[in-house]
Amino acid sequence: MKNVTLIPGDGIGPEVSQAVQKVIEAAGVEIEWEEANAGKGVMEEYGTPLPDEVLDSVRKNKVALKGPITTPVGSGFRSVNVAIRKKLDLYTNLRPVKTYEGAPTKFKDVDYVVFRENTEGLYAGIEHKVGEDAAESIKITTRQASERIVKAAFEYAQRENRKLVTAVHKANIMKLSDGLFLEVAREVAEEYPEIEFNDRIVDNMCMQLVQYPEEYDVLVMPNLYGDVISDLGAGLIGGLGLTPGANIGDEIAVFEAVHGSAPDIAGENKANPIALLLSGVLMLRHLKETDAADRIEAAVADVLAEGQTLTGDLGGNATTTEITEAIIDRL
Ligand code: ATP
Ligand code: MG
Repeated sequence: MKNVTLIPGDGIGPEVSQAVQKVIEAAGVEIEWEEANAGKGVMEEYGTPLPDEVLDSVRKNKVALKGPITTPVGSGFRSVNVAIRKKLDLYTNLRPVKTYEGAPTKFKDVDYVVFRENTEGLYAGIEHKVGEDAAESIKITTRQASERIVKAAFEYAQRENRKLVTAVHKANIMKLSDGLFLEVAREVAEEYPEIEFNDRIVDNMCMQLVQYPEEYDVLVMPNLYGDVISDLGAGLIGGLGLTPGANIGDEIAVFEAVHGSAPDIAGENKANPIALLLSGVLMLRHLKETDAADRIEAAVADVLAEGQTLTGDLGGNATTTEITEAIIDRL
């Protein structure tokens, strides 16, 4: 029995989390879910959108599955999602970008993984007005944070038999900050001679990913570029309903979809649970439940390829419940 914290979240969060719990149970993995919620829904009861018991539960169990969280205005948080990553020092944001047959996209054979630095860069949150008519945001780049994210990317490449790591930057313009990131990436690359290494300037990277996405394997980059490149990836593979993610530290990992709470369809049984389900697959791999992870991923691929039971975002009219049952039938 494995203990995992479940943070259902807001909007479509509870619907898709429940779907994922059902599929994982049907795959025969025994998980003792410890539910601890954060976000808009708990603001009234706790006076904060991020109660201590949520963080305590994740620290204790070391693994969490998390739905999207809406940050209430005036709660003292810029973003509860970012606060969770920072407080638990989840410095790696991992986002696989992979095409499945039957998904609504023109692209084929895309299979790359984004490693986004999760703790600094332009997300350091240091911003101020300079008089009335100007403002400054400070971008922080440290050797330590750059080194650990690049190492995480190479370790992953080694473990998963990936051939190429590409560092993404804008060191031609930000010579000191991105220059440091690139310098560190080159140093770390020397420790992994069996893995090929190259680098791309972020604007060129965007063009390359649209023209030749199949040529890329593992991408590693500072925070903001990771944000942009992973949404580009969501577009390549057929949308936010299919894009999983994970936030990983040295000991703790929190698995969550890239999408937000989608308030426009919340509570209507219309949300696509696949993005969170594939995040659950990443979680099962992290828990060394490789067989169940493979079976769930294959069941998702089958349902997409058949094209009979798809949610609205994929061009069908199935409900969350129906697509979840179709996946379970395929297991
Ligand atoms: P938030 O403020 O929490 O980020 P948002 O309005 O930005 O929420 P997102 O979830 O980021 O919403 O996604 C934007 C749109 O994409 C949604 O309004 C929704 O229509 C669609 N969408 C996102 N996720 C899903 C999903 N899992 N299934 C179906 N549609 C989705
Ligand atoms: Mg959003």
